[in-house]
Amino acid sequence: MPELPEVESTRRSLLPIIGGRVVSVDLRRSDIVEGPRTPAALLSGSSILALHRHGKQLAIEATRGVVLIHLGMTGQLELARVAGEDHASDRHTHAAWSLELAAPPASPGLLWFRDPRRFGGLWTFPAMGEVRVRWNDLGPDALTISGEELAGAVADSRRAIKAALLDQAAIAGVGNIYADEALFRAGIRPGRRTSRLTREQCERLAGAIRDVLAESIQSGGSTLRDYRDAAGQAGNFQSRHRVYGRGGEPCVVCGTCLTQTTIAQRTTVYCRRCQH
Ligand SMILES: [Zn+2]
Repeated sequence: MPELPEVESTRRSLLPIIGGRVVSVDLRRSDIVEGPRTPAALLSGSSILALHRHGKQLAIEATRGVVLIHLGMTGQLELARVAGEDHASDRHTHAAWSLELAAPPASPGLLWFRDPRRFGGLWTFPAMGEVRVRWNDLGPDALTISGEELAGAVADSRRAIKAALLDQAAIAGVGNIYADEALFRAGIRPGRRTSRLTREQCERLAGAIRDVLAESIQSGGSTLRDYRDAAGQAGNFQSRHRVYGRGGEPCVVCGTCLTQTTIAQRTTVYCRRCQH
């Protein structure tokens, strides 16, 4: 499932569309869109100004509107520097935008949104102001979170820190993989009550979250099933996971057999010797 590093990798691989123009849009499944579904609302006739991300959500800002994209479990954006329909003709392709890319030389492009399991979707907004209002309901973005922000986001709660990390209203962009990886690096048990975290542990955990996300982005994200960025590149950070998916295997630091349990209905792996 795409998490923050995969969404950020997708955003970076889409940068060539900035400055381009949307020639037309082909919406094949209208029920994936929330908000107005007219060609103009889906950016037809607009020029693309910027690509924004908050947590796991990606926004394409254009001159006459914004399309917000959530990749869900299996969503993918793909960009090809070609014209034509047949590059995006499979039944899981729900929307396709024909583009005129600006980067010299100007050339046709095709951007399409695929989502076999359809947990993702598109939202249309008139401008970024409305998107920012929506993003205000999410916690601070995990890629830049400070220890102070983390402490504030998980304060006054007695739940397990792992559950708090997965709560997008507390911190935006941490999912199951990076929650386990960050807690391991910070030496904190996933089941520890947030109210019992010291300020120093919050600083350490915020640093570990930023580091693990940044390293994953450097590796193009983690490809577990079928994640690809918009240029078709798989990530390879999955080979550097230290705990995620390694229950029962030896800890990379101390050799103790890693413990697998369930927290917040999610499989959770940690080292009972290195994490306190
Ligand atoms: Zn260990």
